Amino acid sequence: MNERLKKDLNEMASILDEVKNQGISYLEHLHSRPTSNTNEIISETSLPVDGWGAKNTLKFFNETFEKIMVSSSGPKYWGFVTGGTTPASIAGDWLATIYDQNAFKLSGQGDISAQIEIETILLLLDLFNLPKNLSGGLVSGATMSNLTCLATARQWIGKQQRRDYAKEGINGAIHVLAALPHSSVLKAMSLLGLGSVNITSIKTSHGNQESIDLVDLEKKILQLSGMPFILISSAGTVNTADFDDFDGINQLKKKFNFWWHIDAAFGGFASCSKSHRHLVNGWQYADSFTIDCHKWLNVPYENAIFLIKESHKILQIETFQNSNAPYLENKSGKVDYLNLLPENSRRLKALSVWFSLLAYGKSGIQEMVDNSIKHAQSFGKRIEKCPNFELLAPVRLNIVCFTLNDYSEVNVRTFLSALNETGKVFMSPTFYQEKRGIRAAFVNWRTTSEDVSYVIELMKKINKKIS
Ligand SMILES: *Cc1c(COP(=O)(O)O)cnc(C)c1O
Repeated sequence: MNERLKKDLNEMASILDEVKNQGISYLEHLHSRPTSNTNEIISETSLPVDGWGAKNTLKFFNETFEKIMVSSSGPKYWGFVTGGTTPASIAGDWLATIYDQNAFKLSGQGDISAQIEIETILLLLDLFNLPKNLSGGLVSGATMSNLTCLATARQWIGKQQRRDYAKEGINGAIHVLAALPHSSVLKAMSLLGLGSVNITSIKTSHGNQESIDLVDLEKKILQLSGMPFILISSAGTVNTADFDDFDGINQLKKKFNFWWHIDAAFGGFASCSKSHRHLVNGWQYADSFTIDCHKWLNVPYENAIFLIKESHKILQIETFQNSNAPYLENKSGKVDYLNLLPENSRRLKALSVWFSLLAYGKSGIQEMVDNSIKHAQSFGKRIEKCPNFELLAPVRLNIVCFTLNDYSEVNVRTFLSALNETGKVFMSPTFYQEKRGIRAAFVNWRTTSEDVSYVIELMKKINKKIS
């Protein structure tokens, strides 16, 4: 054994102790650590011939990177849709690393980690109040989940046309309809050979909305003259958290032949809130779902699930089967994860989700979701009261989309960069209904009412300073 490795092996306990203590210190200072920095890393590290050992490497990491890491897992990081980490999720994630299982096989002798994943999916179905005729797995994010669902949807279209696109490739037309799909959906289409520009665009509903206009949808469906197609719908658009009318879409599904996918990356968690679960009414009839766990469930990156109706399993296997590998043969009749999703070897991501679900239960997660909604609403109300700011859309869930009275590009940009530069809060820019805007997404379980008040005062101050 290499000398450095041997030394590290002997020091394993104290290496992990140092990391644990450093982790605790990071978490205890999340409130005060800056949310942004402008440092660029100029790394001149070259690969050493003789390694430094774990402790010296940790020391070097601390000197070069640690002090400029931002508190993106903290309570005032409101950019994009960024979650944090609950204690139980960290426990599960650490253990996933330490046990280092490969959750790819469900069958035969060997490790049981894939069974933990199945159990985790069942717990999540219960959390979201979704039917048990869905089966799913964990992937690295909503992007991979959208990809997994759309790949199976592509195979479904093939079946309608007596083709096997997974085997033959696509040399026919596949129709995809959507109003405001997330950018990751376009990426999935590009990866799948569907072409990211090949979306038949559906109008959004009248007024200040981002949801699908069902009348226009039906019109576009009729233009397809009975051809099968894929419909991508949203449970929470990123700008304003608008939801499509799932009951309405379900009515159309009874009349027309299509694969219905719901991107519920963060909005799926509306199902956990008594006051907001109506937003997902009717979603249980969809063919496939994308839900991120590393956003609103507040588990560490990379963590998302896909859910696909059991009745489509054969299409999923046709799409993802890892064929021609005799050493992976499975005689149990169970389908291994490596034949159901893009990756073969996989980390036991389910463990941090499993820990969170059991540690906090339905009511704990409901409270986490309701708190984010409460903070978004209160932030929105205060913005409405400020003469210098303006809400761009009603606060429907956990996202506040707003702008300044003077919403010229220069002004909004100057304001936002001055705000983010304080390092006290982080928000992201957007463009909504012809206006430059700003988004604040409330996802982190640690955010408090005091944080919201603090940020409003800070915003007023900055606005005064730049105008
Ligand atoms: C964040 C998000 C995605 C992409 O998710 P990743 O986890 O970043 O891959 C897809 N759709 C929606 C609606 C999202 O909010």
